[in-house]
Amino acid sequence: MKVFKFGGASVKNAESVRNVADILKQYANQELLIVVSAMGKTTNALELLAKAYYNNENESKNNLFNEVKTFHDDIIKHLLKDAASHAYDDIENLFIELDCELESAPDGSFDAIYDQIVSYGEIFSSRIISTFLNDSGIRNRWMDARNFIVTDSTYREGKVDWKITESLIGNKLKPIVKKQMVITQGFIGKNKDNHTVTLGREGSDYTAAIFAYGLNAENVTIWKDVAGVMNADPKKFPDAVKLNALSYPKAIEMAYYGATVIHPKTIQPLQSKHIPLYVKSFIQPDENGTLVGVGKVLEEQVPTFISKNNQLLISISSKDFSFIVEDNLSNIFFVFSRHKVKINLMQNSAISFSVCIDNEEEKTEKLLSELALNYNIKSNSGLEILTITNHTGELLKKLSDGRKLFIEQKTRNTLQLVLG
Ligand code: ASP
Ligand code: MG
Repeated sequence: MKVFKFGGASVKNAESVRNVADILKQYANQELLIVVSAMGKTTNALELLAKAYYNNENESKNNLFNEVKTFHDDIIKHLLKDAASHAYDDIENLFIELDCELESAPDGSFDAIYDQIVSYGEIFSSRIISTFLNDSGIRNRWMDARNFIVTDSTYREGKVDWKITESLIGNKLKPIVKKQMVITQGFIGKNKDNHTVTLGREGSDYTAAIFAYGLNAENVTIWKDVAGVMNADPKKFPDAVKLNALSYPKAIEMAYYGATVIHPKTIQPLQSKHIPLYVKSFIQPDENGTLVGVGKVLEEQVPTFISKNNQLLISISSKDFSFIVEDNLSNIFFVFSRHKVKINLMQNSAISFSVCIDNEEEKTEKLLSELALNYNIKSNSGLEILTITNHTGELLKKLSDGRKLFIEQKTRNTLQLVLG
């Protein structure tokens, strides 16, 4: 049994949905679960729609709804073989359902509302793809991922209840996948009150891993618009090369440092059951891609470059010139954790403590104003963290050339630079 995941870029228009069908034709006789994301940039549009709805901005709400609907209608129109086909009628009904929801007054927290609305992207996409595949002779069954993935009520960042989820997938879903190809959604689950909870942006990779874990799958393939996991972002580093193999820890490390190919939470469930992960190109499906794998995989000793942009460097010092040691540090960490702000890099000296975080305006403002109650704060925005593994001295010079270097941290294997 295998799990495939197709992200938004692989189903961004009618032509790319056809390409997915071509890939799947080769796997028609296998036991296969397919996880799909929302089409193209739908999630971004639905995010704006959720905001407009929450803030009662009717005009922009209607415009955004129409934009999302027209985008999907257009894809359906190009996929349809028969103009009189009713195959897609139930998708029309989904839009009516969403429209009705948007007509009622918003009720509940923004995060809860966000999840109820934004999750439609995956529902539309999986319905369209499943219908098109059936229409093209690739028999499959559409299943709602929310019947299997159970989370707590942390809206927009649902924590999976592994026990229940594993047993639902193993007992209820597995027998179905044995009989028939199944199409389901990434990114979404539900809580015990049956409300939709999303798993965090770009969470469909993680969904694929959750299903693979519950199904005890043989392997997982994430189909991407790149050849595999690269040692650097090819848009920034023209000599970027594809890595053929990676160990689980290395993949976790790369995702943590900011490589966007695999969602950071994806590896852990796979590693715990020794399930290999392939990252492959949907443009060149016959190429090997990258294997993230079990046991001792043969990693190439090439340097990897990972950059995280939009970083804010905050330096925290005490107002009374006291040392920043255990007491102050534990208080500072507590503030970060309460505001759910992740620290990407930290450095301390006797009198100050510096951290780099993603600069997400709303969160950052609240965090800084609370810290400012007890500490002196200095900050610099618009920075980049560049993480290099298997580094060499020459590289360091070349990369920081002409730029302001705020922090440099080096271990045997890893070099991190905070650059202006
Ligand atoms: N559609 C969701 C997002 O764009 C989930 C995903 O693509 O993985 O964040
Ligand atoms: Mg997406």
